[in-house]
Amino acid sequence: MTAQTETGWVVVAGLGPGDEALVTQEVRDALDAATDIVGYIPYVKRIAPREGLMLHASDNRVELDRATHALEMAAAGRRVVVVSSGDPGVFAMASALFEALEAGPKDWLDLDIRVLPGITAMLAAAAQIGAPLGHDFAAINLSDNLKPWSLIETRLRAAGEAGFAMAFYNPRSKSRPHQFAHALEILLEACGGETLISFARDVTKPTQEITTVALKDATPEMADMRTMVIVGNRDTRRIGRFVYTPRSAGEVSS
Ligand code: SAH
Repeated sequence: MTAQTETGWVVVAGLGPGDEALVTQEVRDALDAATDIVGYIPYVKRIAPREGLMLHASDNRVELDRATHALEMAAAGRRVVVVSSGDPGVFAMASALFEALEAGPKDWLDLDIRVLPGITAMLAAAAQIGAPLGHDFAAINLSDNLKPWSLIETRLRAAGEAGFAMAFYNPRSKSRPHQFAHALEILLEACGGETLISFARDVTKPTQEITTVALKDATPEMADMRTMVIVGNRDTRRIGRFVYTPRSAGEVSS
């Protein structure tokens, strides 16, 4: 993609969990070629301003408007990067872009649209902890902005009872502090009190903090919206300062 390209394009890119070393080269190249950056305010702040680059930062919860705006600009010949933290396909802007595409004019389908992956918070956190997701796992968003809380409870219980390790995004916000307390009660019942739970806050940033405890000792205050929570399965164990889940479980026919 050169600066001379006349046709517009839109790229949905993941900026990784925070450390600039974890931004892929492919994403850097797209950012260098862009005329416009679209995204949630803290993510757009990560982009260095330069001449000829327009920064369009917007508040949270306006994902569809933001995606529509990006598609409109690409249709008008601009080179647009929609930024997400982590990976754009994980509870982020890639799906919002396709929802906007589905709702928009048919000729948008001919636009040059690409999704560029990034390192999602779950995998960055797991790597700092050791290998807690070394066997089967489920990734669950604990926010009830876009689904009812009852569905979250059903999925938590089902994943725990089925022996999945779990990774929770958006675990606990100030507006719904009681829900995470309830999630911990469900996990205690479904997984057992000795199961290990890790709280990884600000992963790969200078302020990173990681704590691992048994589920029976976990308290809701250990998580906030900057935390990734990872619950092991019944085989997850500590080895020195690491936590890992063995690659096998139950009876394996060899
Ligand atoms: N698309 C992002 C996730 C967006 S949801 C990704 O792939 O990572 C936002 C949630 O991600 C936060 O509430 C938090 O649970 C988690 N998160 C994002 N960055 C994080 C980081 N550096 N450390 C810990 N958790 C993080």
